[in-house]
Amino acid sequence: MIELHDVKKVFNQGRSNEIWAVRGVTLDLEPNLVTVLKGPSGSGKTTLLAMIGALSRPTSGRISLDGKLFSNLPERFMTDVRRETYGFVFQRFNLIRGLSVLENVMLPAYPLAPEYSALKRRATGLLREFGLEGKAESKVEWLSGGEAQRTAICRALINEPRILIADEPTANLDSSLSRELVGLIGDLVDLGKTVLVSSHDPIVFESSRVSRVVEMRDGRVAGGS
Ligand code: ADP
Ligand code: MG
Repeated sequence: MIELHDVKKVFNQGRSNEIWAVRGVTLDLEPNLVTVLKGPSGSGKTTLLAMIGALSRPTSGRISLDGKLFSNLPERFMTDVRRETYGFVFQRFNLIRGLSVLENVMLPAYPLAPEYSALKRRATGLLREFGLEGKAESKVEWLSGGEAQRTAICRALINEPRILIADEPTANLDSSLSRELVGLIGDLVDLGKTVLVSSHDPIVFESSRVSRVVEMRDGRVAGGS
């Protein structure tokens, strides 16, 4: 479904601090699975996920989705691909303090300008599905770790993405919350989603819910199944 061909990304090109974060990745990612990008800090996982998620553009190489090249499209079209295809769960969840759970979940849908009441219904439905119906009006800073993580997942799902991208989602979680997160991710795959996770956490990459581990090292795919 997602095909990467010789994808490279350089930062600060031509300067003394030039860094090739991704150095030629060719990879096919299948739908309806959990795929983990595993690798030490600095191996290029975040940079690669950002390009797959149409958040940034490769310096060279191609990325396509269902056979359609998107990595070279003008920014406006990249944005469309991103909003229509992907949901993102960030490290530390990046929930916006001062806003309620419901407001956080609805936020990524505003640029698509759906009808407000329909959007609120969808968000409320998601909160119910994830056991957060009683928390809709709570400010996110008052949530427990588990509630915050489920809020982040609801927010990632608000635009009904086919593909969920989670960048080191367990990096700041204790092991029971990490296991819960992996379970939630597995449930999403059962519902037909495709999940890409970057992690160097064994709770993630050794989980039975993970179908494939792609190992990254120094901006390249080092191994994998
Ligand atoms: P990982 O997610 O595996 O820790 P990253 O993709 O974040 O790896 O980083 C890969 C390399 O690229 C690192 O050396 C990092 O410092 C560098 N890097 C990442 N983003 C930027 C940026 N915006 N500007 C300059 N260097 C960057
Ligand atoms: Mg990273």
